[in-house]
Amino acid sequence: MKTWFKEIAFSTRQQREIVDLTDEVLEAARESGIRNGLLVVQLPHATAALALNEGEEGLKRDLLEKLDDLVPVRGGYHHDRIDDNAHAHLKSALIGTSAILPIVDGHIIRGTWQNFLIVEQDGPRRRSLAVFAIGE
Ligand code: ZN
Repeated sequence: MKTWFKEIAFSTRQQREIVDLTDEVLEAARESGIRNGLLVVQLPHATAALALNEGEEGLKRDLLEKLDDLVPVRGGYHHDRIDDNAHAHLKSALIGTSAILPIVDGHIIRGTWQNFLIVEQDGPRRRSLAVFAIGE
């Protein structure tokens, strides 16, 4: 049994945007050399989220707009009394920040339209995405 770890550093450019890191995650998984096991992808941030979904431009806008409908930026939140980003924390909590995927015969098991999308809600800032693989 082998384990492998990598942090993918990246920057976001907007306050709220979606960054597609699919190529980077797949490349990291290849680098791991693990052909059968588990891939754990963890975004270690509380004001952004990780979604496995389609990277189509219209859908990315839909996701950002729907999140703003559900959790408006100025929603009278308690956390905004000490910070100004309660909406970003809430969106991160709703979507989540990690995923576990099987690796079988060198392929990560995921849907055709399941890209690794970072949902930035409190940018721009430097972020990282942790990729851990275990298996053989
Ligand atoms: Zn905060």
